[in-house]
Amino acid sequence: MRNAVYPGSFDPFTNGHLDIVERSLRVVDSLTIAVLKNTSKKSMFTPDERVDIMREVLKKYPQVKVETFEGLLVDFCRTRNIRIVIRGLRAVSDFDYEHAIFLMNRKLLPDLETMFLMAGSDNSFISSTIVKEVAHFGGNIADQVPAIVFERMQKKKSQHTES
Ligand code: ADP
Repeated sequence: MRNAVYPGSFDPFTNGHLDIVERSLRVVDSLTIAVLKNTSKKSMFTPDERVDIMREVLKKYPQVKVETFEGLLVDFCRTRNIRIVIRGLRAVSDFDYEHAIFLMNRKLLPDLETMFLMAGSDNSFISSTIVKEVAHFGGNIADQVPAIVFERMQKKKSQHTES
């Protein structure tokens, strides 16, 4: 069994992330999406809300699990018998950061392999941070996130304006 993990913030889950998930399923048997409980980035959805949304978006894929995680990715992998990490690469600007994490993870768990999938041209400009910013100022991001994510973002926005 080729078990893989796709770690990230996914705040929110975009069409770019979805593309990486769907393409990785061509090469792995099971995929666990690990939603980082990240305190440093300003977030739109709580980690539990993100898990909930992504489970809904990905419910047609029984081989995909979505969980939150904190601590070291290598520990997450060790306890679940995962030896493949999936990451997406959009542009050269992603490279340095991804390379540094790859080297560190490899040092911590030498038999962990990282697979990088490159974003297709339609998705290479999509980022959760930009999607959040544009949505905040009323711009249309409907074609950059799955419909379920779009609805949840609208709902979140109306809750904010009501309070
Ligand atoms: P992180 O905070 O770990 O960067 P993200 O949710 O921003 O979390 O991204 C998770 C992974 O998905 C990273 O490997 C990132 O490069 C990749 N990714 C993000 N957006 C896209 C996209 N539009 N196309 C392909 N990969 C992407």
